[in-house]
Amino acid sequence: APETFEPTVDSARRVLKQYYGYDAFRPMQQDIIESILAGRDTVVLMPTGGGKSVCFQVPAVISEGTCVVVSPLIALMKDQVEALKGNGISAAYINSSVGQSEQNSIAGDCMNGHLKLLYVSPEKLLSSGFLQFLKRLKVSMFAIDEAHCISSWGHDFRPEYTQLRVLREQFPQVPIIALTATADRLTQRDIQQQLRLNEPQVFLSSFDRPNLNLIVRPGQDRIGGILEFLDRHPGEAGIIYCLSRKQCETISQKLLAKGIRAGHYHAGMTPNQRGAVQEAFLRDDIQVIVATIAFGMGIDKSNVRWVIHYNLPKNIEGYYQEIGRAGRDGAPATALMFYNFGDVMSLRDMLTKENPHLTQLNLTKLERMQQFAEAASCRRKILLNYFGETLGQDCGNCDICRNPPTTFDGTLLAQKALSAVARMRERASIGLLIDVLRGMRNQAVLSGGYDQIKTYGAGADLPYLDWYSYIHQMLNDGLLYIAYEEGYSLKITELGKEVLQGQRQLPLKKFQPAEKAEKPTRA
Ligand code: ADP
Ligand code: ZN
Repeated sequence: APETFEPTVDSARRVLKQYYGYDAFRPMQQDIIESILAGRDTVVLMPTGGGKSVCFQVPAVISEGTCVVVSPLIALMKDQVEALKGNGISAAYINSSVGQSEQNSIAGDCMNGHLKLLYVSPEKLLSSGFLQFLKRLKVSMFAIDEAHCISSWGHDFRPEYTQLRVLREQFPQVPIIALTATADRLTQRDIQQQLRLNEPQVFLSSFDRPNLNLIVRPGQDRIGGILEFLDRHPGEAGIIYCLSRKQCETISQKLLAKGIRAGHYHAGMTPNQRGAVQEAFLRDDIQVIVATIAFGMGIDKSNVRWVIHYNLPKNIEGYYQEIGRAGRDGAPATALMFYNFGDVMSLRDMLTKENPHLTQLNLTKLERMQQFAEAASCRRKILLNYFGETLGQDCGNCDICRNPPTTFDGTLLAQKALSAVARMRERASIGLLIDVLRGMRNQAVLSGGYDQIKTYGAGADLPYLDWYSYIHQMLNDGLLYIAYEEGYSLKITELGKEVLQGQRQLPLKKFQPAEKAEKPTRA
């Protein structure tokens, strides 16, 4: 007969040694296990690889009854159960791929109290009869894996997860442990509220990845920027994320045409096609994968040296997860993002259409992403702050830290821009305003008669990108705002008027070119 354990931290440590072969818990694991053994609802927010599984598996082994694990990924379920069995822990899974007779025999093992962990898909858990079946068992705890699936967003949202609140209603005495690797405050709140957790203990471990060099550069000539980047990083494997399938294919073709071993990957391809590209990337036959966010879930390639975001991502959780695919080996790696204001506008349109119920939340998340992209202070601080962490000092490994912007008195420049906005009767978009300031003679300028206004060409001494940056700073500082409903035209605020009339000074920041901020990843 298997050894029986008391539900104490001491026996937890013995189980860790006996079944997993590890000598000690990682710092947070022990506190989490204590919380679970005390019967408390518990939320675990820990990055991938942090060791979440042990946190509920060990308490499951030493508790009376069966721990029911809800997991959304059928493929991973099988792997996890096999790993447990390999360690000598009795476990099983039930999902749509398991036949009826096998389900019956698993049910029998549960009734006998032999099974320590039972993995189920949310569909199965919520299907008729299953909760009734669970009521006849001794359920030690519920572990909700990938708990962020309960909250909003994108490819990870699972509507079934929102039904999991019935667990609290039907099993008021059974503790619930929610685990996830994505953990901004909003998701965290959603998890607690939707699962109806009862004063849960929340454990948040560090999300910092100090080996990632974080860089944002303006989204002008992105392909050119990528080719230059690849020149500086010859042979290094990396992933380019973009928003649409079409874009994946076009970019990959452009890279191929320049002799780069590139391939594309998106959900519109057949499983065979996707498998082949993935394999080639793992074998280093392909150097660059151009992919939608569909790529990367469950991919284990430790020598990905860089991740490029061709567009602004939709939110910081997604960004963090995607850049996390670079530098898993701990060696220096680069996360480069292209950004310009047009990205925000197209994402706004996309989000508004995508899911009307979630628009406000998603727009808020997009705003945070935009703030990150436009930041003038340490980006890692902003990123970690989003996950509820504070970094004592600037990181020294982002573009802002490596090449801090210099501040100067930008009042005169701002007045030129504001005056042009006013003289164009607040009808100009950012691009048109810059063209007018720089004295360009294109169709939009000429047909509006803007070459006749007094400030036409008043900023011809500055390159496009400098103006671009200054106007964004003016937006962020609240001198201007964008009327989305009026063709994205720029409007002047009260604060802007004060600057225009000389009642107020405006400091501006000058940013350095991105390549200067890049950390070499090879000698
Ligand atoms: P997560 O689910 O958070 O992504 P896992 O539970 O898969 O992480 O754990 C990641 C790796 O760390 C696994 O190989 C696991 O066996 C190992 N691990 C977990 N806890 C410990 C520990 N206390 N000591 C040593 N290795 C551990
Ligand atoms: Zn920094």
